[in-house]
Amino acid sequence: MHIGIAGVGLVGRVLALNLLKQGHTLTLFDEDTAYGDKPAGMTAAGMLAMFAELETAESVIFEYGKRSTVLWTGLLEQVGIPEAYQQKGSIITAHPQDYKELDHFIETLKYKVEEASGIQLLDRRALTKLEPDLAHHAKAFFIPHEGQVDAQRFMQASSDYLLSHPKVVWHQEVTVDEVKQEGIVLGETLDSFDWVFDTRGLGARGQVKHLRGVRGEVIWLDAPEVKITRPTRMLHPRYKIYIVPRLNNRYIIGATEIESDDQSPVSVRSSLELLSALYSMHSGFAEARIVKTLTNCRPACKDNLPYIEQKRGMTRINGLYRHGYLLAPAIIEKALKEGVLR
Ligand SMILES: Cc1cc2nc3c(=O)[nH]c(=O)nc-3n(C[C@H](O)[C@H](O)[C@H](O)COP(=O)(O)OP(=O)(O)OC[C@H]3O[C@@H](n4cnc5c(N)ncnc54)[C@H](O)[C@@H]3O)c2cc1C
Repeated sequence: MHIGIAGVGLVGRVLALNLLKQGHTLTLFDEDTAYGDKPAGMTAAGMLAMFAELETAESVIFEYGKRSTVLWTGLLEQVGIPEAYQQKGSIITAHPQDYKELDHFIETLKYKVEEASGIQLLDRRALTKLEPDLAHHAKAFFIPHEGQVDAQRFMQASSDYLLSHPKVVWHQEVTVDEVKQEGIVLGETLDSFDWVFDTRGLGARGQVKHLRGVRGEVIWLDAPEVKITRPTRMLHPRYKIYIVPRLNNRYIIGATEIESDDQSPVSVRSSLELLSALYSMHSGFAEARIVKTLTNCRPACKDNLPYIEQKRGMTRINGLYRHGYLLAPAIIEKALKEGVLR
């Protein structure tokens, strides 16, 4: 089939990789350049936190998350960066005055899915063995099987792969006005295809009901004095932060969650909250350098669950909210199995 994809962010790329494997020919449209930073998928930390997300999400997120962790290895191999996948588990800790909240958090996960019984309580000795740099915390939990995709490397490598693929034409910096059955509308022009996919994230607001943006801010640090090797969260009654280690002493600190589709730069308040929580977690961050701060908005539906709409000749996939990396491979697998397109 000749297939059109409107929106080449995270979902558009994972979809394109799947469709190429099935032998289709693709025409891609995006309002950004292939290496631009508009997609939320470019800002994301790339955590695959199917357990920790359960605190506020439904167990269906857990099932799709588990499936995605299996599928990511193949996708990253396809674009030539298998090492961009890590599944060493994650750590969650808190200050002593918040241990009650920490216990409650873990109990909630255990209540929601049976597999959470594998979450391990760590005392100082066990934590020191696993993550020596967190030895000053007396209590934490280890969540096995959680991991991360290096999101920015995936975005870069998938651009390289798609741009050089003989079965792909990528129209960059073009705004799609409408996606309809078998057609993509750009201004006065209608491009026809055997099948079209609408994966424009927040850009599909006019056509996906109740779609909203949820602002997220992250801070990138260069911290040679810190050696944390796994995604690590700290519970705090007012804000939750996570630290995601990347190559060469880089760490992503995130992320705020604000009900707004404001994409303006990071606020003073958010920076203060994220950085003070970070410093209280590990004083080695004091001399870290702030490399950049980023803001983007997560596309979310009313129920914060993924949205799939299937019609003859058209599929829309949206609403991946704070779970794009966690869910995209499995949600796309589901959409392709259920759609008329096979
Ligand atoms: C700060 C932050 C941290 C996050 N961390 C994580 C995490 O750790 N783990 C996780 O699983 N998820 C995370 N996410 C969520 C994840 O990034 C999103 O769920 C995911 O990116 C949504 O994918 P998408 O393809 O629907 O949208 P996007 O990635 O935003 O892509 C949409 C694409 O459509 C294009 N587009 C829009 N409108 C038009 C138009 N009219 N015409 C043409 N092109 C258009 C855009 O340019 C863009 O390329 C995070 C998000 C944020 C903001």
